[in-house]
Amino acid sequence: MILEATKPGLDESMEREFNPWLSAEARFDEAADRLGLDEGLRKILGAPALEVTVHIPVQLDDGRLEVFTGYRVQHSIARGPAKGGIRFAPDVTLDEVRALASWMTWKCAVVNIPFGGGKGGVICDPAVLSQGELERITRRYTAELMDFIGPERDVPAPDMNTNEQTMAWIMDTYSMHKRATMNAIVTGKPLNLGGSRGRVEATGRGCLFVTLQALKKLHLEPSKTKVVVQGFGNVGGKAAKLMHRSGMKIICVIEYDGAVFNPNGIDPEALQRHRAETGSITGYPEAEDIDKQEALFLDCDVLVPAAKENVIHSRNADRIRTRIICEGANGPCTAPADKILAEKGVFVIPDILANAGGVTVSYFEWVQDRQGYFWNEQLVNGRLEEIMVDAFRDVVKFAEAHQVNNRTAAYMLALDRVAFAIKLRGIYA
Ligand code: GLU
Repeated sequence: MILEATKPGLDESMEREFNPWLSAEARFDEAADRLGLDEGLRKILGAPALEVTVHIPVQLDDGRLEVFTGYRVQHSIARGPAKGGIRFAPDVTLDEVRALASWMTWKCAVVNIPFGGGKGGVICDPAVLSQGELERITRRYTAELMDFIGPERDVPAPDMNTNEQTMAWIMDTYSMHKRATMNAIVTGKPLNLGGSRGRVEATGRGCLFVTLQALKKLHLEPSKTKVVVQGFGNVGGKAAKLMHRSGMKIICVIEYDGAVFNPNGIDPEALQRHRAETGSITGYPEAEDIDKQEALFLDCDVLVPAAKENVIHSRNADRIRTRIICEGANGPCTAPADKILAEKGVFVIPDILANAGGVTVSYFEWVQDRQGYFWNEQLVNGRLEEIMVDAFRDVVKFAEAHQVNNRTAAYMLALDRVAFAIKLRGIYA
């Protein structure tokens, strides 16, 4: 069922292809078919458990009142509290939030952490809002959701355009309502407020761990590996830095405002400094500016799409020239693109595995908050590695045993785990 048009200006077939909820459904259906999932369980997991829409009145800096629309979707709480980020963007849709919530369910199940899946979104443009306006939106959004979120109910985290500061405001607002400090209400908080060491780099670090596993599996050496990274933010930027440090060659970085290329490798930390000074990755003296659309099709060993949804689709997937795709973003490949990539023999590490490092360290953060006892970074990173390597192995084993691609295998594994939890719990009536 399509709730609303995804993005304006697309023809009908692309609109369907780019609708993330339809993409999520297509993957779900394929995995459910292959598992022979019971019809009733299919109905339960095929729709989100709870969807909340809130209209958030906020006074802008110039004194005007504005109303912003926000969503929180809990796709499943079968395996534990709902878990997932909150994104702020002008084009957030309910279908997108529903899809992202369901991906969180599968993601948490793939890495076997005791959470369900949720996601939130507020339709707003952070680029034109002041810090004060963002704070008021965040606090009122949190207040509107008081009856639905909580450390044992639904635990938000950062996502696109939200960060540690946003999480600090949520934690404070929730705590003020509860008349007690409740730091386990959100993850991705600043360290001083109960955040976890290693959380900021966790998603990128998770990408590194699974990519190293994929290289091993395909008998490729990190030192001979050419990497193209799309997105140079919290996921792509950190993944590029860590991959570079482990010996891989970052030959191209693609951002929304341009791409830079050097066949001999780019040092992501130096590029970061260049961007901090100039405001853009372009014009970096150690690399050449190239067309950002074409950069995605460079010949490489690892492509890390870590920017946004739907960048690899039915009309460009055949131009991709890589051995491995490590999906740092959620939903960067559409469902029809999966088939084309499979025919080309690309080894895809699907988003629900590849970028699960973030939520895994969110889980560590939640555990530490509830214990009131904090771990050192070595312990966090070591436990993250263990979980990512185990999950990679589980997915690849499943793919080989069932003769399916990695994405279908990851969905099958996740569905099986979530369905089992529902069966054990039974249906409360
Ligand atoms: N937003 C991140 C994701 O999509 C992190 C979610 C979390 O830590 O709960 O995985």
